[in-house]
Amino acid sequence: MENSTLRISQQAANQSDDRDVNLYPDIFSQYSADAYNKAIDQAKTLVLQFLRKQTKPFSGITPAALGQQFQHVDLNVPLANYDSLFAEVDRLYVSHATAFHLPHYIAHLNCPVVIPALAAELLISAINSSQDTYDQSAGGTLMERRLIEWTANQIGFGKEADGVFTAGGSQSNLMGLLLARDHFTLKRYGHSIKLDGNPMVAHRFRVFVSEKAHFSNQKNAWLLGLGEQAVVEVATDTRFRMRLDALDKAIQAELAMGNIPIAVVATAGTTDFGNVDPLEGIAQLAQQYSIWMHVDAAYGCGLLLTDQYRHLINGIELAHSVTIDYHKSFFQPISSSAFIVREKERLQIIKHHADYLNPAEQDYEEYPAQINKSITQSTRRFDALKLWFTLRLMGRAKLGEYMEAIIDTAQRAAQYIGSDSDFELLCESDISILVFRYAPAQVQEAQYCALNQYVKKKLFHAGEVLVASTKVQGKFYLKFTIFNPLTTNSDIRDMLNKIKSYGAGFFQ
Ligand SMILES: *Cc1c(COP(=O)(O)O)cnc(C)c1O
Repeated sequence: MENSTLRISQQAANQSDDRDVNLYPDIFSQYSADAYNKAIDQAKTLVLQFLRKQTKPFSGITPAALGQQFQHVDLNVPLANYDSLFAEVDRLYVSHATAFHLPHYIAHLNCPVVIPALAAELLISAINSSQDTYDQSAGGTLMERRLIEWTANQIGFGKEADGVFTAGGSQSNLMGLLLARDHFTLKRYGHSIKLDGNPMVAHRFRVFVSEKAHFSNQKNAWLLGLGEQAVVEVATDTRFRMRLDALDKAIQAELAMGNIPIAVVATAGTTDFGNVDPLEGIAQLAQQYSIWMHVDAAYGCGLLLTDQYRHLINGIELAHSVTIDYHKSFFQPISSSAFIVREKERLQIIKHHADYLNPAEQDYEEYPAQINKSITQSTRRFDALKLWFTLRLMGRAKLGEYMEAIIDTAQRAAQYIGSDSDFELLCESDISILVFRYAPAQVQEAQYCALNQYVKKKLFHAGEVLVASTKVQGKFYLKFTIFNPLTTNSDIRDMLNKIKSYGAGFFQ
């Protein structure tokens, strides 16, 4: 963007009324520096107040009560100053924001975020580089490339690997399936889906995932014009990991029906149980049937950082492509994710030349352009800077220690739950998710679902403990996602006790 178009005249900058002045986009002009500092300082104050004063993970407010507060907001009439603005945002948003940094938030895959990444966020949005081309982000392009290279190296990929930062795991999974489909079709039929669309035979394409794989697989099959019907759910073992014999059988069965297996998506860290599919065995079958193997390590990617638990994700290096969510087990703020391929050649297909952005005659190695690897984003945040700050200041080992801490806490929590006769633990977790239910002996099995639903809702509106839930074979279970390295054993025991005491209310 042409900077001068944003620059305001000194006259305009000096004009003042009773509003906060100099609220112009060019925050680094001398006229606006004060306004910038003031705004950021007030934002920081509100953040610190949230982080320090919040004692419960949620206020417990209902949508109806919160909705009431919005009735008096007129978006056509701006507020007088930052004080009024921050007060409004505090009332409508911050004071009811879910506090992922508190140990009693134990619901979804939301991590507490590390401080260096927060400092990076200031630079990212203020400088506002766009990661599509070198002329919009010179150092940013090279930093992103180095981080991709580093991540590929952690995976165990060689020099031929490449990738791109994405908005999230769902999008990275989409890229995996897209490349799988298009390469298969080119190789098998000499047909370019990119140019000519799905061939008639595409309705027979099949993608294999476990029953516990992320729902983005279904959505992505739909987006790619294969339909959800293309996704074959493979049976799982007692820890809800894909069974190799079942995968083999499922592939055979589809072949026998005249259908065409194109890919298998292995999950490294299931959203419901935190367990890792048998990656090495899946890789063998993928090779045997000549199909693409994508590893969805959105959650399990943190295992790459720990020497103690790295073995749990062995085999990931055999994949054709991998999804990494730094905004999960690398403790980064949303969004921060990557799609990595073993052979960079595979990404070529994504390249699309636009004369105004990345003309064909441009030399890519001289002027690298990440746009050539991005499917759905052109203008794209420099999210990679957060990981850069984190790695350069904290280092891989520290992140790995966090990962080890949550795994250790989850193992102890599993012991508590498993050894308490009032609870029923469904299975152990490779990482940090425990699915269980409150099931005291004096209560009839038929009442367990209603009892646990009651407990979850009561806890939510009391705001004291936020747990997630899931269904397994039609039955309702509570779910602990342990994602905070500071969560202690006594936090876990306290939460279990709260479940019991709220549960007692069910019978009154
Ligand atoms: C969270 C998650 C995803 C989706 O990632 P987003 O970043 O939320 O889009 C995909 N797969 C698994 C296993 C996940 O846990």
